[in-house]
Amino acid sequence: MAIIVYLETENGSFKKSALEVSSYGRKLADEKKTNLCGITFNSSDPFKIEKYGVEKLINIKTDHVFDAKIYADLLCKNFRDLGGTIFITGSSADSRFIFPIISILLDASYATNVVEFPSSISPLVLKRSVFTNKAFVFTELKNKHKIIGILNNSFGIFESERKLEVKDYISESLDSNVQVESIKEDGEKISIADAEIVVSGGRGLKGPENWNLVEDLAKTLGAATACSKPVSDMGWRPHSEHVGQTGKPVASNLYIAIGVSGAIQHLAGINASKCKVVINNDPEAPFFKAADYGVVGDAFDVVPKLIEGLKKFKSR
Ligand SMILES: Cc1cc2nc3c(=O)[nH]c(=O)nc-3n(C[C@H](O)[C@H](O)[C@H](O)COP(=O)(O)OP(=O)(O)OC[C@H]3O[C@@H](n4cnc5c(N)ncnc54)[C@H](O)[C@@H]3O)c2cc1C
Repeated sequence: MAIIVYLETENGSFKKSALEVSSYGRKLADEKKTNLCGITFNSSDPFKIEKYGVEKLINIKTDHVFDAKIYADLLCKNFRDLGGTIFITGSSADSRFIFPIISILLDASYATNVVEFPSSISPLVLKRSVFTNKAFVFTELKNKHKIIGILNNSFGIFESERKLEVKDYISESLDSNVQVESIKEDGEKISIADAEIVVSGGRGLKGPENWNLVEDLAKTLGAATACSKPVSDMGWRPHSEHVGQTGKPVASNLYIAIGVSGAIQHLAGINASKCKVVINNDPEAPFFKAADYGVVGDAFDVVPKLIEGLKKFKSR
């Protein structure tokens, strides 16, 4: 009857989203008066999750490269061994590959893009974002096994320490259809998926030589950097920074767009951000309609002043 959380790692460390998934699972386990167990791959510091309410953690040791089918099989086996009923995951690209497979293997109902703690526990009803955050639906999960996929930054991270037991599960070598030829690091300093704050630049910045504005503001705020599609298409910035409908989704707490017009395809990917700030010299730019705060002005005047003001504020 346990609740199981899938805790994603990157280079052996738990991702920020794993802490959020644990916090969500802890609260649900408390409401349902049951245990919270976690499953992770290759964690090098498993006891870090103790603070976030997990009582038992299976640390799967595998040298397989990411293969959704193999990861799904390993997660399913351990989910069953732990006596899981509800599986909670984040919304990374990898988990969006893995969990549809798990939902078939477990015959589980699966709700993606969950943005809040359940409005009802029994029956289990979840609020979900749909149509790129333009509307919400309430979905009831009816099957015996249930999967909740929560959207990053939608619940928050809360500490609630429990005594943690960690068990290693050594995965045997399994047949994989995936073979990695080479790995190219994308050089992201703070990953867009995990970032609390994202600073994004568009074609209004005129050229790659002006990206110091975006980078300086991001550095001052401890933010990740992003860009619109044409900016990465023109090679001003790496493709890993392209956000929007055809790029990476952003669900940060703060999204600052500089010289980005706010085309529907751009907004589609960033709408889940909680607070959107736009700096644009055209008062008619469509982004202003979607923004929480807008500055009508030339980015080359506004951004240096903003950086200066923030630095002064931080040094107080
Ligand atoms: C199928 C499809 C998928 C797409 N997917 C995506 C996607 O995933 N992501 C995405 O971003 N786009 C996507 N696009 C492209 C999208 O339609 C827009 O063309 C694109 O978002 C525009 O990029 P931009 O805002 O940087 O440039 P522009 O549209 O050229 O806007 C530049 C903005 O900068 C402002 N500006 C100019 N100078 C200054 C200044 N000095 N100071 C301040 N502001 C200034 C202008 O007023 C303008 O609003 C897609 C298009 C299609 C057809």
